[in-house]
Amino acid sequence: MQMNHSLGSSFRGEISNLTIHRSDKVPAADDLDLRRMAAAALNYLRGNPDPARNYECKFSLGPLGIPALVPFLASNQYGFDPISLGDTDCRMDWQYPHMRAMAGEPHADAVEIGVRRRIQSYQRADGLLWMNPAAWAGTLDSPSAREGLKHEWAFTWATGKWLVSLAEEYERSRDARFAQEARVIFQALAKLLSWDGQRAFLPYGLAPWRNGEWLHMQDAGKNCGWGGEHSHNYPFFVEPMVRYWECCGDAEALALARAMADGHLAGVQPDMEELRIDPVTGAFAKHVHLHTHEVWGVAHLGAVTGDPRYLDWAEQAYRFVLSQGTDFGWYPEYIPQHEYRTEICVVGDMTSIAACLARGGRPEFWDHVERTVRNELRRSQFFLTPAFVALFRKIHPDLPTADVDQALAELRKLEGGFVAQATFDDWVGYPSPTMGAPGMYANGIQMMGCCPPEGMRGLWEAWQGIVEARPAGVFINLPFSRDHAAAQVTAFRPADGGFRVAAKQAGDYFLRPPTWADRAAVKLQRGDKSVAPVWGGPANAYLLCQAVQPGESLTLHWAVPQFKQVFAAQSVPGRNQSVTVEWSGNEVLSVDPRGQYLPMFQT
Ligand SMILES: [Zn+2]
Repeated sequence: MQMNHSLGSSFRGEISNLTIHRSDKVPAADDLDLRRMAAAALNYLRGNPDPARNYECKFSLGPLGIPALVPFLASNQYGFDPISLGDTDCRMDWQYPHMRAMAGEPHADAVEIGVRRRIQSYQRADGLLWMNPAAWAGTLDSPSAREGLKHEWAFTWATGKWLVSLAEEYERSRDARFAQEARVIFQALAKLLSWDGQRAFLPYGLAPWRNGEWLHMQDAGKNCGWGGEHSHNYPFFVEPMVRYWECCGDAEALALARAMADGHLAGVQPDMEELRIDPVTGAFAKHVHLHTHEVWGVAHLGAVTGDPRYLDWAEQAYRFVLSQGTDFGWYPEYIPQHEYRTEICVVGDMTSIAACLARGGRPEFWDHVERTVRNELRRSQFFLTPAFVALFRKIHPDLPTADVDQALAELRKLEGGFVAQATFDDWVGYPSPTMGAPGMYANGIQMMGCCPPEGMRGLWEAWQGIVEARPAGVFINLPFSRDHAAAQVTAFRPADGGFRVAAKQAGDYFLRPPTWADRAAVKLQRGDKSVAPVWGGPANAYLLCQAVQPGESLTLHWAVPQFKQVFAAQSVPGRNQSVTVEWSGNEVLSVDPRGQYLPMFQT
């Protein structure tokens, strides 16, 4: 058989044992159900906040421990789990409406309303959100830390997230009050910028601000937690500006997004050291999420403006992170790192960046969205699986059964969240002889509260990318099932390669097979009739169906390569762990080294 799968441009390393699967039987439906994943995610979003603590959210989660919550920072006057303030809650606030839209639940419940009121309470008359800087510093009351850590500071990080929340609330409700509130926040953030000619920057990245001073901790001595490093990293600024412009149409925000992105491209933020993204190679060092969170905004800016400078810069940084990760959605928390561990915050960012690059005219990145969601995100969603329950009981042998049962009942509230730091194939990222001891790192499974909502963002990105009604026609970008106003898509299981589209509106339809699909073997049907494929659309990546009528059925089929991939993982210097992945199209069948405790991929 002729092999023309261009697998080498989609998958790194050595490809072997290649066979081509083309089913002659009726294709089976894909068992990936994004709606069901969203419904489970809502269970987590409603189970995490504590109504008795004014809907304070939980950050320091370690589900194998009893209890599962042990504050990573000591409780203080600002919070029980103070690290969650202005971070975990703001991230969750975004995802309640998204997960409800996917799951088909129109109304906010008391928990969602409570979390939003809590975030509102952080906002002061100046429009900025103020809080204790624990989440930023990762420490409190350290003897050598600045006195300022004990008080409240304004956060561009949380304020930007709140700007997005209000902008999206305006987009959903068209209630002008939300646009007005968003405008106030935009103006407050704009005042904090420094300028280098036409280019903007924040002098200490995401460092907190108060009365003209930045809490950058450069002279704060040792034991200052993460803050010292964070003040050399990027802020979270471009995405809030682009999203606010997208929802509310404020042209000043788009101009400010450009000014900030131009600053990133030119490298005008001072003292970034090795954290600065190399504009030629995309390379950088240290905490990945604080980079990718801002890269996402620049990719988004590139997609909406069509400016290739932004798309190229974002793609370079994306490809650098990809080179340090895998092709199935696992990306490292740190570069370099001591152990192979991901962070779901990075996985969510990478999904968003890939979707933006795809919308910016680089549709091959839809395959990246598919592989990340279908594999890493799907297998990281937390459930009380039989294997988890068995391990839980095994590592708590000395406790009365009733106590273990009670702890498991509590854990039901966390189902639908995401394990934050899996290895290549194991939920247990921190194995030790004392596994099960309470504590986010001690228990064995890291489930820090920033990550679950960012995994949900990945689901939301995929959901929105499946069907897009654009001026040129209806685009089917991803082989995931979804009932959309323009078309109903029924995906086949990955081994059966394809999907069926029930058209709901008249016009041209564009159907995208995976980038690696052998074009000679792609088959298109309209109704029961085979039609000759006509390629078109962005990058000529789509099958074009012209003048489709509502009620018409379109079916796309492709031949599915099944193969073995072997590569050396790059993120732990000197280790170069060999990883073997068995693939069926974009779906992972197995990963070796196999997870020792709670493997994710073997079925
Ligand atoms: Zn995280």
